[in-house]
Amino acid sequence: MKTLSRVTMVVVSCVLVTMELVSAQPPLPGNEPAESFTTEDYYRVDKIDVHAHIRTEDPRFVELAKRDRFRFVNIVTDSSGPEELRQRHFAAFAQLKAHPDRVMVASTFPMDGWDEPDWQEKTIRFLDETFAKGAVAVKVWKNIGMVFRDKDGKLVMIDDPKLDPIFDHLAQKGIRVIGHLGEPRECWLPVERMVMHRGYYGSHPEYHMYLHPEMPSYEDQISARDSMLQKHPDLQFAGAHLGSLEWSVDKLGDFLDRFPKVIVETAARVRDLQYQSSLDHNKVRRFLIKYQDRIAYGTDLGVTATTTPERAIENARRRWLADWNYFATDKPIEVRQLDEPVTGLQLPKRVVEKIYRLNAERFFGGTFQDASRH
Ligand SMILES: [Zn+2]
Repeated sequence: MKTLSRVTMVVVSCVLVTMELVSAQPPLPGNEPAESFTTEDYYRVDKIDVHAHIRTEDPRFVELAKRDRFRFVNIVTDSSGPEELRQRHFAAFAQLKAHPDRVMVASTFPMDGWDEPDWQEKTIRFLDETFAKGAVAVKVWKNIGMVFRDKDGKLVMIDDPKLDPIFDHLAQKGIRVIGHLGEPRECWLPVERMVMHRGYYGSHPEYHMYLHPEMPSYEDQISARDSMLQKHPDLQFAGAHLGSLEWSVDKLGDFLDRFPKVIVETAARVRDLQYQSSLDHNKVRRFLIKYQDRIAYGTDLGVTATTTPERAIENARRRWLADWNYFATDKPIEVRQLDEPVTGLQLPKRVVEKIYRLNAERFFGGTFQDASRH
């Protein structure tokens, strides 16, 4: 009996020692459940969608998004010709005027007149006018590198020396550049080998580079973007759509290491993170924790005058909530392109706050304009 109780004592003390050892271990970063948000917190946390296209003067969409605590970077893209470009700028500034405390504007410039000797001067003047109206960023789009050709029929790439004075001007003025350059890597694959982007290229064969082998390769697009960034180290650059490195968090991490001032945003590429996390959940989670200061949340949502604001907010909210559950909780997330649901990453609260707001505020200059000044 005595022996037995001595054995018990030894076992108990061993257990106690082990427990002490376990509790002496530092907790895994951000693994404490109390440190993460819930689905319900979605309506309590201030958020910024850094990639929105609100192409209507109607102020109601932004008004309705107050309930979701979303503010916006409203991006103008030159994808449909000069008249449409004029209207898009007009709508973007109308949104800014209606909601100076909830909207920021990224303007853009047309490539028309590229071959004229005064193109650079005119473009700088055009952009300066948009800054005078309140734009804080400039969008460059994939038409540079994939569509626009000079008078000799040569595709103009983003590292073209003729663009250097524009980027120098923007760097000097502290205007940020949002670059959608190149496309997802799947764009260079046949449709049947695509996983996440089949729908888009199925309906946009003009941008499906696999069908256009004479066009620059994926690597050409990425290296042109990198060479532009090397030439302009002071430029405040945000890589749209995860910097077109959506297919590999390893490659994306290498890119962020090479360009320490650059950030990337998630627009229309959360699904690519989800695909990677379906293969290796912890790898994607570790990546987002490691680069928590370098990633901003964006969706690529579009709002036009043809959709009612109620319908537009319903669509946006579905996407926002699904993404919130993926980043903030450990719920199963349905992903249209995948057979099995993906488990949410349940990132630590602080990381979620950085991705959803703090990084965007830092990158885009701190705060939205104070409504009382207007
Ligand atoms: Zn977009």
